[in-house]
Amino acid sequence: MSRSAHPAGPRHADVLPEGHYAGPPADLNSLDPQVWSRTVSRNADGQVTVGGLDVTALAEEFGTPAYFLDEEDFRSRCRAWKDAFGPEADVFYAGKAFLSRAIVRWLTEEGLNLDVCSAGELATALAAGMPAERIALHGNNKSTEEITRAVEAGVGRIVLDSFQEIVRVAHVAERLGKRQRVQIRVTVGVEAHTHEFIATAHEDQKFGIALADGLAAEAVRRALKLDGLELIGIHSHIGSQIFDMAGFEVSARRVVQLLTEVRDEHGIELPEIDLGGGLGIAYTSDDDPREPHEIARALGDIVRKECAAAGLSVPRLSVEPGRAIVGPTAFTLYEVGTVKELEGLRTYVSVDGGMSDNIRTALYDAEYSVALVSRTSDAAPMLSRVVGKHCESGDIVVRDAFLPADVAPGDLLAVPATGAYCRSMASNYNHSLRPPVVAVKDGAARVIVRRETEEDLLRLDVG
Ligand SMILES: *Cc1c(COP(=O)(O)O)cnc(C)c1O
Repeated sequence: MSRSAHPAGPRHADVLPEGHYAGPPADLNSLDPQVWSRTVSRNADGQVTVGGLDVTALAEEFGTPAYFLDEEDFRSRCRAWKDAFGPEADVFYAGKAFLSRAIVRWLTEEGLNLDVCSAGELATALAAGMPAERIALHGNNKSTEEITRAVEAGVGRIVLDSFQEIVRVAHVAERLGKRQRVQIRVTVGVEAHTHEFIATAHEDQKFGIALADGLAAEAVRRALKLDGLELIGIHSHIGSQIFDMAGFEVSARRVVQLLTEVRDEHGIELPEIDLGGGLGIAYTSDDDPREPHEIARALGDIVRKECAAAGLSVPRLSVEPGRAIVGPTAFTLYEVGTVKELEGLRTYVSVDGGMSDNIRTALYDAEYSVALVSRTSDAAPMLSRVVGKHCESGDIVVRDAFLPADVAPGDLLAVPATGAYCRSMASNYNHSLRPPVVAVKDGAARVIVRRETEEDLLRLDVG
């Protein structure tokens, strides 16, 4: 078990569902629509296709490893979130899951807003023409330079994460003669795991300001006093890869409670609340994610109910899905290089990427699925571990998977649901070249992030 949790994707395998690891699936050639992007299917030759293009042709044109992103699926998920939450709410896509200029353009076209948490993400968003008022800046340690660039650009909101930052953002805004719209990020004492949540008074984590001990109320007091700040609301983000809506309900209840306290103390009703992201997706057939409309209904109901009980007008709601939008839209395509059978144990299938293009398995014990995609096979299921080519025994892409026993060098394997936190967390370990992201739509493929070259590597090495 990994010892480190991370807000971008805590240990997905922390709490395994009932009946997990039931044995090989009935049909190794079938593709579970839960884990594959919407335009993926197998053609008459047994090849997997995405957006109408088969993987062998894609591998020939773009090489492996590579991420293939289903643009139609991405856009349809944006629309599903937008429609589910309606005009009275805002959907902020969490850029850290995966960001590129093409992604920013699609988000802009589909009416979504965007969360960034660094100068680099902000620069990408602005370069692709996202209107600044639709951008929110996050982070627990934003530099003064990052804050300055965001305020100068005119971002719609900065989410304040600490007492120091309240003052820092106010100073920057005053110096620039501006009044910056801000939210305060609170920790509500909800530890959300994949299949359970724990409500606590305190949270032991670096993000946000605790509701406990009146700290968040004090943050509100301070922010309201500063001319450079326009406090528009309260923000809460409880974790990642969450399936259980109960954690969000506790979070919503506690945030509304703070709004009530603010009204009672200051006589003002803060107009917005943001309940963060963290909605889970299916990495394997065992996962059963909620649909956007179920999430919207659950969150909307609880906020309306709590506000009615407190006599508050219902604030404008925002949510920040990252993984739930981009995660399911891409798969990573690899070529098999070696197959090593360890008698009585398992078979190690080595592919041409690994922890440099998907660190989540090594980092969080994340679970993934994998399929042979360049052909079908009638061979018996073989317990396999799909591993990369890096100099680490922990370089595992898929810990336990069944592949057909005739899998061989030259076969193409694909790992679905790699759209989020894979390319964005990719590294150059072993001086590997980070793979491209190729968008596929209606029979056409185009590179949206190109493959790194040795020239790229050597450019940074000044010799
Ligand atoms: C990471 C993060 C998100 C997105 O989380 P997902 O699990 O990708 O939905 C949203 N809001 C904040 C503040 C985050 O840090």
